[in-house]
Amino acid sequence: MDQRIERLKEAAAVINDLEKAAALLSWDEETKMPPGGAEARAEQRATLHRLAHERLISDEIAGLLDELAPVESGLDPDSDDGALIRVIRRDHEKARRVPPELHAEMVRSGSKGYRAWLAAREAEDFESMLPHYERGLELRRRYVECFTPYEDPYDVLLDDYEPGMKTAEVDEIFDQLKTALVPMIQAVADAEPVDDSFLRRGLPIEPQRRFSAWALQKFGVDCEHWRLDDTVHPFASSTSSADIRITTRFRETDLGGVLACFHEFGHGLYERQIAPELGRTPLGSGVSAALHESQSRMWENLVGRGLSCWRCFYPRLQEELHDNLGTVSLEDFHRAINKVHPTLIRVEADEVTYNLHIILRFELERELLAGRLATRDLREAFDAKMEEYLGLTPTDLKHGVLQDVHWSDFSFGYFPTYALGNVISVQIWERACADLPDLDEQFEQGEFGALRDWLRDHVHRYGRKFTPQETVLRAAGGPIDPGPYLGYLERKLGEVFGAAVV
Ligand code: ZN
Repeated sequence: MDQRIERLKEAAAVINDLEKAAALLSWDEETKMPPGGAEARAEQRATLHRLAHERLISDEIAGLLDELAPVESGLDPDSDDGALIRVIRRDHEKARRVPPELHAEMVRSGSKGYRAWLAAREAEDFESMLPHYERGLELRRRYVECFTPYEDPYDVLLDDYEPGMKTAEVDEIFDQLKTALVPMIQAVADAEPVDDSFLRRGLPIEPQRRFSAWALQKFGVDCEHWRLDDTVHPFASSTSSADIRITTRFRETDLGGVLACFHEFGHGLYERQIAPELGRTPLGSGVSAALHESQSRMWENLVGRGLSCWRCFYPRLQEELHDNLGTVSLEDFHRAINKVHPTLIRVEADEVTYNLHIILRFELERELLAGRLATRDLREAFDAKMEEYLGLTPTDLKHGVLQDVHWSDFSFGYFPTYALGNVISVQIWERACADLPDLDEQFEQGEFGALRDWLRDHVHRYGRKFTPQETVLRAAGGPIDPGPYLGYLERKLGEVFGAAVV
């Protein structure tokens, strides 16, 4: 073993430990910390992030990467060492391009923007956000300039979440989605509405919690390596592949908390099944935001909203929620959890309309960044697109332009990865189904191990060893393609609404 690769690994392990410690502080802040701890916690997290960043851009790592350049060209690029050097080089070079003052200012203005957004939402005051939007946009433009030359300024922001992906590719995929989805939604709007009233009221929390713990255990959660906690916004986090934490929020007015468990399980399983030998290296995490979302969406929608899974799960849920579901048939329940109906809130949207929420945000981000849309006109532009794509007019700011946290700190480039994740989820799913033709029968028996193992071997174990594009290619057998996803949605609409819609 080359001593220099060993030293690079040691340096990377320290960065990994700092980042994972920061992630643990965030998890604690969301789940356990008394509110009074917020101020000190912000400092503690900032310190850990700063130390990790300083190490990443350090002369030590720069020197090692220089020394290893000739070695790297002789290594198999698919070997762990070859991948490790490539990924550290990429992270190091990206981080070095951004002046530390700009980096710090973006973090600072982001947390100011977040606090302002909480207040603006409460007070229904769009105007108060304008100075934050202006500042955020100015800082993002300066950030983009650190990466000249580029084809499209949005490429630079997208690359932070979806390495190597170009805006033009997203554009093409979203055009295909939009062309197919707008008429699909129109047809659904004209069809007989699905009755889901039995899922809209009086669902006691504790039985939902008991059911979710039971279902997660069937999926593969064990107490040795997983935790489930309550938070306002569900998320998944981990300190290593042996310590996975997911959160959810149960409500009496819908089963969103149960489905959030399924979603976050998909994120958690990805991290859980990364090859242990990649631990404490930059290869030991999910490869991109879209790939991660493809895994959460698979367990939430393709498994967790599917009939075969509920053939196993429904009797248990009926037992837990007897007063609500005792007389509701499995078929009616399945239709209800797959209802398609345009809504104003993105995070509550169904599988079909969800993507249009994303596409409109992607379009607005690009307009703002390019200077074709002024921040003061953002509200009108948002409302106009909601009307155009979903036929809805936001009733207030909370149900309109101020609903998402992402724009409060100007995390431009993130939204598209949600819809890309939906698209990729079906591509990977279809390959898994072709390899495992009896998945339905297995799910009906409450067996999910074969799917877990397939995902481990085709996606999870590699972490960041291959680029996101290569990872999709290996798992799905082709590049990102919305065709399978659109076919899946059409079949589902046929199942849920009958032939009238498709
Ligand atoms: Zn997710």
